[in-house]
Amino acid sequence: MLNFDTLLLVQVCTTVLTTALLLVTACYRDSPPELRWWALGDLVISVGLALTNLDHVPVLLAALLGYSLLALGIALVLRGVCVHCGASLSNLHILLLTLIALGVSGYFTLIEPSLKARIAFGGLYFGLLNWICAYAVARYGGERGTVITASGFAMLGTALLVRGIGLLLQAGPLDLSGSMILGITMLTIPLAQMCTAFGLILMVMWRYAERLRHLSSIDALTGAFNRAGLQNQGGRLAQRLQRARREMAVLMIDVDHFKQINDSFGHAAGDEVLRFLTRLLRQELRPMDVLARLGGEEFVLVLDGIDAADALRLAERLRVRIAAEAVAIDGGSVAYTVSIGVVTSAQAGYELATLMVEGDRAMYAAKQAGRNQVRAA
Ligand code: GH3
Ligand code: MG
Ligand code: MG
Repeated sequence: MLNFDTLLLVQVCTTVLTTALLLVTACYRDSPPELRWWALGDLVISVGLALTNLDHVPVLLAALLGYSLLALGIALVLRGVCVHCGASLSNLHILLLTLIALGVSGYFTLIEPSLKARIAFGGLYFGLLNWICAYAVARYGGERGTVITASGFAMLGTALLVRGIGLLLQAGPLDLSGSMILGITMLTIPLAQMCTAFGLILMVMWRYAERLRHLSSIDALTGAFNRAGLQNQGGRLAQRLQRARREMAVLMIDVDHFKQINDSFGHAAGDEVLRFLTRLLRQELRPMDVLARLGGEEFVLVLDGIDAADALRLAERLRVRIAAEAVAIDGGSVAYTVSIGVVTSAQAGYELATLMVEGDRAMYAAKQAGRNQVRAA
């Protein structure tokens, strides 16, 4: 049979280690706020655990402050989870969750003193709070790492609930060192703590990786895909359409005399025209279509399931709309036009690079023909 003090030591060690791990990952300048809440929450929980478990701590300090800190710590961890999931947990809610622990542990300390009732309440209450964390992570976490984190919280919640219920059902006076349930739950808790800490860090890392991947495929000026993003998203769309035997079209769009816009109105005005044009193009897209800026004033539209006639109609509609909608800049307005080359998979196949070469050729034909025109490949 495992010794109660040994189990307690293991729990203290894992708490200190997991707290240190979260603190280290949270302690750099650009760490996400949820990581800081988790680290702070774990730190507060560690102090609470120390107060409630160490010998020779005055009972008022152990019961009132210890339980309040444990509740506050878990509430802070829950706030971190909420922040990560795009929600929030107000200070009032955190205060309330803390006051419940203070009130009940105060009741079982000062008014109806019972160590057993207090520990049972702690198990039930902290178990429930951990289950709320598990639910929030599983329901709203949305990325990898969530399974580990949610399992960790659920394991922790279950261990604490079992401890609470076990103590409630236990007849006679409290016997901590001989309690089988207490032994098993104390073995589970360190494991669950490690799962939770590693899972939380994984969740943040995964989100960072996703954000980096997104940033590396997006054009900073317009928010459209850049060349790498186009190759990725456009290539994927082309493959999907080829498998589904659906037709696709590529529109190569180039702003006419853009250099003159820069020269006449300034580079910032040119940038604004590019942003305006991107917004306009987006309004005409369907969810599966891909919009990318190749650099300079050249854009590509990869259109899902559209034949040559429809693609030409769309290109013409875009051309007319672009010519009609001048960009308001500094109280004035900048009118501009585009030349568009249109090519479909029926003409050039599903290889994106080939489609773009053919589309480019059509676009240059439109330039040659006097600009502000649409040409088919
Ligand atoms: P054409 O009608 O033949 O397409 O003529 P153009 O002036 O549009 O084409 P050209 O390739 O001669 O000039 C493109 C200009 O786009 C030159 C470059 O300074 C400008 N440019 C490239 N990138 C940016 C950008 O990010 N912002 C702004 N404002 N201008 C850019
Ligand atoms: Mg141009
Ligand atoms: Mg150009």
